[in-house]
Amino acid sequence: MYGLPEKQLSFLLRAGCDTLPTPMNLARCNIITSPVCTLCHCTQPTTNHILTGCSIASIALDQGRYTWRHDSVLQVLVRNFKKDLPPCYEIYADLPGHQASVSPPSTIPPHITSTLSRPDLVVVSTDSITLLELSVVTNTEHHRLAARNRKGDRYGSLLTDLQQAGCSVNLVTIEVGCLGHFMPQTVSKLSDVSPTVCHLPKNTIRCILQQAARVAISCSYRIFNSRASTTWDVVNLFTC
Ligand SMILES: [Zn+2]
Repeated sequence: MYGLPEKQLSFLLRAGCDTLPTPMNLARCNIITSPVCTLCHCTQPTTNHILTGCSIASIALDQGRYTWRHDSVLQVLVRNFKKDLPPCYEIYADLPGHQASVSPPSTIPPHITSTLSRPDLVVVSTDSITLLELSVVTNTEHHRLAARNRKGDRYGSLLTDLQQAGCSVNLVTIEVGCLGHFMPQTVSKLSDVSPTVCHLPKNTIRCILQQAARVAISCSYRIFNSRASTTWDVVNLFTC
């Protein structure tokens, strides 16, 4: 959290002790009588709901607030991994300008296998392919595990297809908390596959994740500040 702008640091600390002015907390202090989420009209608009649980913020076509945060964090990983990647590796990501093919959009090079699946980040070498899936989640172990299992299930058939195409395949699922937490195991997971992903030492991986975590906090801060607005017109991904 060092280096965060003052207001974002205050947001982070208040989120940690649940004293942000959410409708739930305002009702608890008798400032309002009926807590309700402006977007989905649910009656439990907690901090977690606003930051990760609101169905409208998540899926409505004109919203995509959580996708914006996810892609902003993914962009940090992609840029950093690309920086030191040896020329024999190809790296693709489910972000504009980083895909393996545009029509249909794919992060797996079509000459390896044809698929509509789009893992977040794909690293291809001559004899292996690594799929990396990122989730930006609430800071609870339950949600982290749920995200990991969901992603693991999603790519079962793609893994089989890639193996049948003769590739040695790794699937790495990593989670970054919406309030900037990440588990030590996330560093280990990335460093375990580092020889095939990016040849980065553990300390560098930790620095990259810290950068990603800071972006997650900044994005969550913006999402929180937009909690009472039914429109979301943010187009560009967040960059530090
Ligand atoms: Zn809601």
